[in-house]
Amino acid sequence: MSQRITILPETLTNKIAAGEVVERPASVIKELVENSLDAGATAVSVEISAGGRRRIRVTDNGHGMSREDALLSLERHATSKIKVDADLDGILTLGFRGEALPSIASVSRFSLATRETGSPEGTEIIVEGGRVRDVRACGMAPGTAITVEQIFYNLPARQKFMKSAETETGHVADVIARLAVSRPEVDFSATSDERELLRLQRSDLQRRLAQVVGRESSQHLYPVMGEDDSVTVSGFVSGPALVRSGIQTIFTYVNGRFIRDKVVQHAVMQAYRGVIDRGRYPVVALFIELPPGEVDVNVHPTKHEVRFRRQSAVHDAIQAAIEEVLRSSPWLGRAPVASPTASQTTTLAYRERIAAAAQASLALPPRQPHRPQPARQTGAEFALLGVLPEQNTAVNEPASPFQPERSRTGPDGYFSSLAVIGQFHHEYILCQSGSELVIIDQHAASERVAYQLLKQQSRTGGIESQRLLFPETVELSFGEVTMAVRFSQDLAGIGFELEPFGGSTILISAVPRMVVKEDTILLIRDILADLERFGTSAAFNDAVESLLSRIACHSVIRGAHQLENRQIEELLFQMDRTDFAASCPHGRPVSHVVTLAELQKIFKRT
Ligand code: ADP
Ligand code: MG
Repeated sequence: MSQRITILPETLTNKIAAGEVVERPASVIKELVENSLDAGATAVSVEISAGGRRRIRVTDNGHGMSREDALLSLERHATSKIKVDADLDGILTLGFRGEALPSIASVSRFSLATRETGSPEGTEIIVEGGRVRDVRACGMAPGTAITVEQIFYNLPARQKFMKSAETETGHVADVIARLAVSRPEVDFSATSDERELLRLQRSDLQRRLAQVVGRESSQHLYPVMGEDDSVTVSGFVSGPALVRSGIQTIFTYVNGRFIRDKVVQHAVMQAYRGVIDRGRYPVVALFIELPPGEVDVNVHPTKHEVRFRRQSAVHDAIQAAIEEVLRSSPWLGRAPVASPTASQTTTLAYRERIAAAAQASLALPPRQPHRPQPARQTGAEFALLGVLPEQNTAVNEPASPFQPERSRTGPDGYFSSLAVIGQFHHEYILCQSGSELVIIDQHAASERVAYQLLKQQSRTGGIESQRLLFPETVELSFGEVTMAVRFSQDLAGIGFELEPFGGSTILISAVPRMVVKEDTILLIRDILADLERFGTSAAFNDAVESLLSRIACHSVIRGAHQLENRQIEELLFQMDRTDFAASCPHGRPVSHVVTLAELQKIFKRT
């Protein structure tokens, strides 16, 4: 029988961030599973009933504890993970405070059964509200099983802070997902009221992520790898086709520990600036590795917060690594990460449903089954410009709404008459008009052109709609489905055909032609969210223009984008047919003129 655990001296415990870690079932499970992982477990199973409020059980096949250690582990500040002050500077385990087990045992009916590898029998300790009631030998497989019943039974005030079983289950699923992503080599299984919540077999990070974020989503993930002095950044990040409306799918880890850190989050969002819209979040699983002395995890008792010694170096390393991936635009043609087999993802739908119940909004990417994408063609902007001949021969390619109606010979308007100098930064078109330099924001211009066309169509008999060859289903919240049904007539008028498809699923069979290639599902969610605010059909009509501007915005690609000369010419041609209030529907300017006199002033030629 070995003894690993010692009680920390007070001089050391005073240096440890103090505070309560037991807040709700999910926090208990986090502590217990972290202990299992620290004990070298290769399989961890979690069972809960009533969202963990009635019962939690975590079983592992780790190294277990001797009888002495098992008794010691229930004392405050008893840990096997650090011994002296200096150990605080090099923590490699998930735990080190020696407080979780006694805290949990003091607020529940608790039982710890453990058998050390090589020991003939196990030990079971029964604790009630912090009092040891029984210690006995027991037969069991090597490893540890901890049962926590009636959490906060002796603290009615704390009980009130727990939410419904469904919500608590959602938090539990989130906690397990975070831990599972950090340790793909470990089997995880979880049941809730005897129904399987998830079953994740050991595999690699790529597959584990697919199991957690969904197989479809995982097809939009790309590997990241960056190294800078002492900081290594690795993992997977999503391209612009996969965004969510919450930060729940940003998994960030420092030395294997899940963290939620402002510096890290800021670096991630900086990298996506201009690539995804505000209020949207990418799917990210990022592992930041640095020497333990470079990061302090002893900041907060839950250890979700850390402090970096060289904060800006870490920030820049993360931003650079992600930008590197985004700059190479891998989603434009290269194959993304391999998708796992269907059987590996069967448990996901359930987790996703639970996550949805816990109000994690799921913005699944469009499947786009109706059209093979030529590698160079990247989005609606080209369709909008409508000049690539190969597009119009592609299978099932919708005709461009911007097909020129007549052959174009010679300039016939202000924009067409401009002499194109070229493109700047793949975002602006530079032109010359006499002694003026004309700068056009290509995104704002495309958006304005699209908006104009939509308005014109809605005035004259409705927005052109494109039927999908393979209708798509999308899971929505209860409120969103209600809106989809209530406004189905109005929505048809602007090109959407949506119908209920059982439960919280709707079927999308047609969308406005202009957005057929783009993030349809995201757009539908945005529109349904708008409708929830409007309430009535009358209000719908008042708001039609803002909906159209939303559609227009979704019909053009965002961010930097290289254009060929003929595409630029086509855009200028279409701009001449657009009633420009000199702004895009969002009110941003479309073009800007710099006069020769202004330039001469800059260069002090006057
Ligand atoms: P900490 O993890 O911070 O050390 P805990 O209160 O969570 O503190 O656990 C106390 C000690 O009990 C741990 O240091 C470890 O030695 C032992 N222990 C807890 N859970 C397990 C487990 N599942 N398997 C083996 N040992 C465990
Ligand atoms: Mg612990």
